[in-house]
Amino acid sequence: MYAMNNITAGKTCEQCGYDLTGLDPEGLCPECGAYRDAWSGKGIAGRGADQLRRGDWLVRLFKVLVLLFLAALSVGLGVMYWSKSGSYTPLVLTGMVSLLFVVSAVVAGVSLFRR
Ligand SMILES: [Zn+2]
Repeated sequence: MYAMNNITAGKTCEQCGYDLTGLDPEGLCPECGAYRDAWSGKGIAGRGADQLRRGDWLVRLFKVLVLLFLAALSVGLGVMYWSKSGSYTPLVLTGMVSLLFVVSAVVAGVSLFRR
């Protein structure tokens, strides 16, 4: 059972900070009775919770990069079409689309630095 209980090693109750090391991953805090689930990180603070937040942060960072990539892609398509046809209309359209992507990326980027 050591391996199973090991998941709570170095973790504390989110509510009261009680050290949950060696306790079952899921259950009620012996100190304050708050529910915890170390598998999902619910009600858990400490090392495991940091890891979960960092994972979430990476996912958001990835979203920002994808949005910036899409913005560059749509501008690229507009420029490509413009250089071939000499028409500005698609460039204006893809420019607006890429602006939307950039705005979304900025909004998502700002949330990266809000903790
Ligand atoms: Zn507690």
